[in-house]
Amino acid sequence: MHYLANDTRYDSMTYRRCGQSGLQLPAISLGLWHNFGSVDPLSTQKEILRYAFDNGITHFDLANNYGPAPGSAEENFGRVLASDFKPYRDEMIISTKAGYHMWPGPYGEWGSKKYMIASLNQSLKRMGVDYVDIFYSHRPDPDTPLEETMAALDQVVRQGKALYVGISNYSAEQTQRAEAILNDLGTPCLIHQPRYSLLDRWSEKGLLDVLGKRGIGCIAFSPLAQGLLTSRYLKDIPADSRIAKSHGFLKKETLTEERLQALRSLNDIAANRGQTLAQMSIAWLLKDARVTSVLIGASSVQQLKDNLYATKNTLFNQGELDVIDRTAGP
Ligand code: NDP
Repeated sequence: MHYLANDTRYDSMTYRRCGQSGLQLPAISLGLWHNFGSVDPLSTQKEILRYAFDNGITHFDLANNYGPAPGSAEENFGRVLASDFKPYRDEMIISTKAGYHMWPGPYGEWGSKKYMIASLNQSLKRMGVDYVDIFYSHRPDPDTPLEETMAALDQVVRQGKALYVGISNYSAEQTQRAEAILNDLGTPCLIHQPRYSLLDRWSEKGLLDVLGKRGIGCIAFSPLAQGLLTSRYLKDIPADSRIAKSHGFLKKETLTEERLQALRSLNDIAANRGQTLAQMSIAWLLKDARVTSVLIGASSVQQLKDNLYATKNTLFNQGELDVIDRTAGP
């Protein structure tokens, strides 16, 4: 059926300025790392993407290698763009990345200019777009001069293939260096994409301070620890869950008895706040003004719906924060 976007799509989402840039991002963005590959039903993908856009999620995050098969998430997203979202392209922020292994040989991963430019060209073709809104260096490359990787980012902006650039998985120190190089080139670093959740606090050890001071936005990935910080595993391991899937990146070993106890306690804290564990986990990230957006994944519309309610209550009192830290903290 022909898709017509919901007229009320901007009524309930909040938008946050990305660092000191002119760009605003939705408090909740949708990532296509899992659930959008060639192994996943296109009809469900379409439903999730439509529901997201209809509810104010304007930002969709991809990478060259998302699938499986690698590249298929971009292809599928391109399909839905063509069938549903074409009239709405100017209302969408589409990002992609290059850095992890994508094709064989010395030019198929990391941070050389050769790889970065070729990869973005491939991504544009797969998605059927002329440009992406944000292009990321997906991970720092220890063997390529940072100047070269940043020059590749600057080049794609000058070529009109990306509007903004970002970095992901860079340490606080690497971020400072990357930002200085990009500033010299005249292409500011818009955003950093770190892993950040109640269960993974590495970003708090210097990175967030750098981002706040330098006016760089922050979009937190795997905010639900790939599903651990939800009701998904509180009783058992469902057959359709990421842990149960052979291609899933979440491994059974992470679900220790100790972790399960902590998750159940966090679930109780969330219930006392009138939230689900997923909602509280997203809200907990949004309490920090330096976090521009929380980048969730979802395998169903129901999950997405649940998560969207997180923005209704992002205030925590000190007692709640202390008990969360004692239960899940650093
Ligand atoms: P999350 O931590 O949000 O985990 C998503 C998973 O949690 C879903 O697939 C689902 O698991 C489960 N889930 C979500 N909501 C609910 C709910 N309400 N109730 C029950 N279960 C729920 O994020 P991801 O790990 O998927 O990462 C999000 C995005 O971040 C990626 O798509 C990607 O764009 C980006 N990312 C970036 C990386 C980088 O290096 N820059 C690395 C990893 C991710 P299930 O499938 O079992 O239903």
